[in-house]
Amino acid sequence: MPPQKDRFVNFIVGPSKGGENHHDQDGEIHMAGVRMYTAKSTPCNRLAVAIAVIAVCLVLILTACLLVTLFARQSTQCSNLTSELDGNSAGDKDVANRGTQEPEFGPITTPASNGSVGNPHPRSFRLPITLKPLHYELELRPDISSNSFAGAVVIRFQCYSPTRFILLHSTELDIADSIELTEVGQGDGRGAGEAPGLLTGEPEFFTPYAFMKLQLDGPLKKGHIYSLKIRYHAKFSDKLMGLYVSKYEANHGKTKYVVASFLSPNGARLVFPCFDEPSFKANYTITIVHEQGYTALSNMPEEKRVPTKDGLVATHFMTTPKMSTYLVAFIVCDFWQESRTVDNTRFSVWAREEVFNDTLFALEYGTRAFTFLEDYSGLEYPLPKIDLIALPQSIAAGMENWGLLTFKESHMLLDPNEASSDTSQEIATIIGHEIAHQWYSNLVTQEYWGELWMKECFANLLAYLALDHIHPERNMMDELSLATEEFLRVMLLDALPTSHAIQGTINDISDILNNFDLTSYYKSEAVVRMLRYLVGSDVFQSGMTKFLQTHAYSNAKATDLWDALSEALRTDRGTRINITDFMDPWMLQMGYPVVTMTRDYQTRIVEMSQEPFLLHPDAINRLPSSPYGYQWRIPILYSYADQLAQPPIHVLRGTSGSLSVQEMGTDQWILANMKRTGFYRTNYDEANWDLLIKQLREDHTVISASNRAMLIDDAFHLATAGRLSITVALNLTTYLHKEREYVPWKVTLQLMGYVARMLSFTSSYGNLKKYIEQQLLPVYRDIGWNHTDSHGARLLQGEVLKALCSYGNEDCISKANSLFKNHVEHGKRIPPDLKPCVYQVGVANGNSSTREYAWEQYRSGTTGENLLWLASLAGTTEPWLLCRFMERSLDPSLVPVVDTVEVFKHVVNNPIGGYLAWNFFRQHWDIFVERYSGGIFLMNGLIDTVTKWFSTDFHLKELREFIAGNELSLIGKAGMKNFRQAEETTAVNVHWMETNYEDIKQWLEEAVSGD
Ligand SMILES: [Zn+2]
Repeated sequence: MPPQKDRFVNFIVGPSKGGENHHDQDGEIHMAGVRMYTAKSTPCNRLAVAIAVIAVCLVLILTACLLVTLFARQSTQCSNLTSELDGNSAGDKDVANRGTQEPEFGPITTPASNGSVGNPHPRSFRLPITLKPLHYELELRPDISSNSFAGAVVIRFQCYSPTRFILLHSTELDIADSIELTEVGQGDGRGAGEAPGLLTGEPEFFTPYAFMKLQLDGPLKKGHIYSLKIRYHAKFSDKLMGLYVSKYEANHGKTKYVVASFLSPNGARLVFPCFDEPSFKANYTITIVHEQGYTALSNMPEEKRVPTKDGLVATHFMTTPKMSTYLVAFIVCDFWQESRTVDNTRFSVWAREEVFNDTLFALEYGTRAFTFLEDYSGLEYPLPKIDLIALPQSIAAGMENWGLLTFKESHMLLDPNEASSDTSQEIATIIGHEIAHQWYSNLVTQEYWGELWMKECFANLLAYLALDHIHPERNMMDELSLATEEFLRVMLLDALPTSHAIQGTINDISDILNNFDLTSYYKSEAVVRMLRYLVGSDVFQSGMTKFLQTHAYSNAKATDLWDALSEALRTDRGTRINITDFMDPWMLQMGYPVVTMTRDYQTRIVEMSQEPFLLHPDAINRLPSSPYGYQWRIPILYSYADQLAQPPIHVLRGTSGSLSVQEMGTDQWILANMKRTGFYRTNYDEANWDLLIKQLREDHTVISASNRAMLIDDAFHLATAGRLSITVALNLTTYLHKEREYVPWKVTLQLMGYVARMLSFTSSYGNLKKYIEQQLLPVYRDIGWNHTDSHGARLLQGEVLKALCSYGNEDCISKANSLFKNHVEHGKRIPPDLKPCVYQVGVANGNSSTREYAWEQYRSGTTGENLLWLASLAGTTEPWLLCRFMERSLDPSLVPVVDTVEVFKHVVNNPIGGYLAWNFFRQHWDIFVERYSGGIFLMNGLIDTVTKWFSTDFHLKELREFIAGNELSLIGKAGMKNFRQAEETTAVNVHWMETNYEDIKQWLEEAVSGD
């Protein structure tokens, strides 16, 4: 679109004053209403702080002296860890350093031959560090009628080294000619107003890196502060990134709109020209000019509302603390709101009127989680307010914008009487996650996107801790979190050579988008959880507080975190451990180990060895080289038979080691990785596996539920990797008819889902269904369709019913059908945890009017509930219905673009849907690339979904042909990594069928023969 300069309007922001009334001499800003971070204790003056620090230090020194002598006896874990980790760090340090790949962060200037400042050459997609922003004064004017917005920004920045050009990020913004550059002065305020008019010519754009370059006729001077005013105009995004509009039908058929923003990870450049990298923190003074009758929201509270001459309203917001671009947020809406004051902070929930009743859970749970997380962080929440807003459309479930958290309606709102147990658990986790980010992302921010894991692992971990604190009876940390699909899947993906280290290497923009994956979110959480277990939860918490205090309003790297934890260990326990040495192999190389324990039953010595765990035996040849040689220091928490209360810990270093367990009888089993605290798998000699199977059959409750789940999960994946016979894995499942806990069933049914996909077109599928039914029936008879109060029991009930109906149990299907009929015909309520199963069965067995009913329920249903109806529409044996479903899903007026990806997930779960989805995906590839490949999550999820069922050489060939033909369209975008992953997964599936099919076939025949 050509620039529409006539549409630039008069802005309220002044001519290049750079917010002078806010600045002090250092260019820092005094922020009304913003609390600089403070410890949760009473504020005190500097002298008092100094005295207190000295006093505390003395106490700590004395305490440490005492503890040093006591500690070795007090903590088996840490003393073992100390002895295991100390003493050999010197040699490893060099390796660690070589393994650290800092993202390139240098100037992109090419020095001129005469040594003067040269011209820019965008050799790197990273900004040079010649200039740093201090303050943005930003005004936005959304105009719904023209589907566009106008903006004006005054960026006040400091020059760190002389340069003849200004490089900013700007994407799809029509920049007006009249860019103004003014020198504000030196850091001390001298020289203000000098040297204006340095700019020469038009701005130049380098689209691949989203750069806008402003050439100057003389160099900017080191230490001087400048002010740059830019006016621009842009279309609203149609991809839910940058600034976008959602329209919805309000009560009485009125159409209303919401303007919302989503700037993570690099979408700020779509809304205003800026230094769009997380380490370029600055203060923001924001004004939004909007229609009367609507409310504008941003990160900070409103300062004033002023009517404009053209009949609009200018809402001015207070200045933010120093923060990163990706956390800035803008909303214009006509929503309802409810607030509470929590710890001096105004905590509000926002939603449109029609769904506002469903905000109560977010308010209740959110305020409790907020209080817990603020206490946990040890630092008072720095802003005066925190808003949680439910948006009709959002690319992600939630986004942590500082002070203005945005959520998809379906992931924030719920009706407690109608939401299933897993939905309420998921929403609680998401709310906790985004609130935790207020400290771990917003106050202290990762240096760059390779350190994305830093913010995500803490947000996940703390969301679980918050849920544990609020609902201890659910056992979120020790059990439920180990059965999530994300945790189970990341262990699978990280066993492929296409995985990556948690600490990612960012070589281009597509790496940023692709880094938003399960490794960054969930492997990081599991590995940091392992560390938390080792250092102790109290030391971990005090280390995190230290970390936040040291780096508040700034950026941090992994080493900063390990240093803070090392210091906490030293001050709290008097223990010196180099955490960096322990963590680096987990953070800087991909994959994880398998520990093999082989017992000598005579000498009672257990030999242990470690190797990298890979699902395909050939994958070892495709691993990239690692400075750590794919070895890890592995904390092995083990137990044998009746020694469960105080499991000892041993840290395995190097390729092998041994344990002498003289008290262990030859008929007692040994079990490692108790409570699944370590991120690895364990294999045993065959006799030990037999002892474990025997124990499960005789009395499975002797082994904890999370360990039972882990044994089955490990065994199936060891079999896939060719390290264990599949029959051992199957034998472990034979006790399940006695299992009444959710976690082992959830894990097993997920594994059986994989086996079922692999066998779905073989003659053994019938026996598999029969076997699963055989194991499920006693559970079904026990819990059936009855009401139950416990959270765990309700989760189990939902899983069992869904599985039993999908494997074709007649009684289950008939009861589900009758509940469905009563609901549709007589409006009889269906208990929430039964709905997924009942809707699925009811629609699959219904006629065309049933499907239309389900479709209408999806279109008009309440949030969350409508997604269950969407899932139900994939239940059919008619291919044409699935095709029509996918076609409809491409029409944004029928199915929001985020839900389209959900449609494909459900279609692929239908046994006849895999190939239909793959064909449809290929035919409509251009639409998918255009819609999804520029952002996070959606393209990656879509590719994973449509390829996950591939299991033959033919599929692999088709996949490779498709990738070869379309590789170019994903350059600089999201998705290619997922295609490479899909190739590896398909190869694993092919190999799985080749090596396991005959054994499974025979085993199943025997298992169901007596039936
Ligand atoms: Zn997050």
